[in-house]
Amino acid sequence: MRVAKRIAALTGEGAFEIAEAARKLEAAGRHIVHLELGQPDFPTPPQIVEAGVRALRDGHVRYAPPAGLPTLRAAVADHVRGRGASTAPGNVVVTPGGKSAIFSTLLALIEEGTEVLLPDIGFSAYEAVTRFAGGVPRFYQLDPARAFSLSAEEIEAACTPRTRVLVLNHPHNPTGSALRHDELERVAELAQKRDLVVVSDEIYAGLQYDGRFASIQGLSGMAERTAIVDGFSKSYAMTGWRLGYAVLPAWMVDPVVRIATNSFSCTATFVQHAGIAALTGSQQCVTDMRSEYAARARLVTDSLNAIPGLSCTAPRGAIYAFPNVRRLLDRTGGTAAQLAHDLLHDQGVACLAGTAFGAAGENHLRISFANSRENVALGIERIKQLAAAIPAAAA
Ligand code: PLP
Repeated sequence: MRVAKRIAALTGEGAFEIAEAARKLEAAGRHIVHLELGQPDFPTPPQIVEAGVRALRDGHVRYAPPAGLPTLRAAVADHVRGRGASTAPGNVVVTPGGKSAIFSTLLALIEEGTEVLLPDIGFSAYEAVTRFAGGVPRFYQLDPARAFSLSAEEIEAACTPRTRVLVLNHPHNPTGSALRHDELERVAELAQKRDLVVVSDEIYAGLQYDGRFASIQGLSGMAERTAIVDGFSKSYAMTGWRLGYAVLPAWMVDPVVRIATNSFSCTATFVQHAGIAALTGSQQCVTDMRSEYAARARLVTDSLNAIPGLSCTAPRGAIYAFPNVRRLLDRTGGTAAQLAHDLLHDQGVACLAGTAFGAAGENHLRISFANSRENVALGIERIKQLAAAIPAAAA
């Protein structure tokens, strides 16, 4: 007996794997500092919890329409208009998490042999789902010398006549980079010139520290060729609720709804009520969490840069730092994965090797600062101790 070959395309996700290894060490009595998962340490804001509980008590426990509750679809449309997107409730499909929006959207776009432009370094699900759907990844690089920004010219050079889809993610996991308006404009021009559909992963939109995130979907000519994928996990501290959405051009709505109908039927109805409360209530909770992440980003960048052998670009959004550890690895002669392994097993710090996000992540670690300042400081202190214990290279 055997399973379908395409299952091999569905890789694991580094963060969940390290979290599991960390849990096993904790069960054996070790103290672990968790800097692996992109999971906000804040509780879900109380007014959102209250709306979810109230929805359960009020009996919102039956199927919802596959595309989502009309009120939530309208709230999402309003919400993304705030980042410059031009859309209507009928363009929104509600999903159980941002990941499900990525999965359904890519599945609807990719044919056997379709080439999909993906960031290397990037979120691992993009490549897994692309391969699963029969597509072929074409990787574009993010330039560490330019704060991990992309180059539209380089993306264009990776295009062939079979390239149909470009996956964009900013603020970016794992580097924290955010694209400037002129960079977005160049990508939009390229998408129109090469007839690409852009899948814009905007899950960290609410966590761009300057509070001025703009969607590529809102640029001239882009609404018809952009699928926004997003979710509530990060900005509203709702990872376990499983709530996300896609904002689609009209021609993609029915195909994605059919995928929804045949895979999950609908997103949990009471959870959607919590989502309505999240989007229509005061956004002060998002502002507060964003300011705290921005403060942590500064602390983390400064303290990582103070460790000999490490250098870290300041993130402009999201909840991660992505320090370069090449000078440490020169001394160990090992890989980033080995360093992450040693950090977990010797120092009790769970973080990820940059290679969990693609080959170009070698020589880097990803440190999530979705943990208290005290815990993050403790984790970085332990990284410093490990770095200090590595003998200087013979040279
Ligand atoms: N996109 C990116 C870039 C992410 O980092 C994540 C989670 O880590 C997701 C999407 C998916 O989040 P969720 O499925 O919890 O909404």
